[in-house]
Amino acid sequence: MDNGLAMVTEARAFWNTKTLREMTRVEWESLCDGCGRCCLHKLEDVDTGLLYYTNVACRLLDTHSCRCNNYAERKRIVADCLDLSQSGEDQFDWLPASCAYRRLYHGQPLAWWHPLVSGDPGTVHTAGISVRGRTADEQQISHDQLEEYIIDWIEF
Ligand code: SF4
Ligand code: SF4
Repeated sequence: MDNGLAMVTEARAFWNTKTLREMTRVEWESLCDGCGRCCLHKLEDVDTGLLYYTNVACRLLDTHSCRCNNYAERKRIVADCLDLSQSGEDQFDWLPASCAYRRLYHGQPLAWWHPLVSGDPGTVHTAGISVRGRTADEQQISHDQLEEYIIDWIEF
C-alpha cells in the first residue's frame, strides 16, 4: 500500500509531467543531484570526437559537498563553465549518463539515489555517484598532464 502511494506521487512529480523547458527555475535547479561529475575536466579526441573525463576538478568545486563554491558568480570566474539552462539540449550528451538533465532529455527516469526520489541529499554520495573523495586538484596539474588523469568510472 505504501509503495503504491509512493509510485502515484512520483508519477505526478514535476520531473515526470513537465518537459525540461516547462520547468520553473527552482524545479530546474533541483534536478541537479550534486554529483559534481560535470565539474571535472574533460578531454576531446579531435579525430573521433570521443569525450574523456578526468578526475581533475574545477578549482571552484567543493570536493566534499560536490557543489560549486560560487554558483552565482561562476561564469565570471570560470569562463568555460557552461550554464545548462542556457544551452541547447544537444549539449546534454557531454554530461555523464547519470545526470538528471541528460536522463530526462532521453526519456529515462531519475535513479533511486537521486535526492528528489530518495528524499535524502546524501544518497548521491552513498551510492557512489558523486566525485567525493575521488578528485585531483586542478592547481597541482598542468594542462599537458591531464591525459594521465583520465578515469573510467564515468560511464556513457
Ligand atoms: S552531472 Fe548533472 S546532476 Fe551532476 S552536478 Fe552536473 S548538472 Fe548536476
Ligand atoms: S565553476 Fe562551479 S559549476 Fe562551473 S565547472 Fe566549476 S565548480 Fe562546476
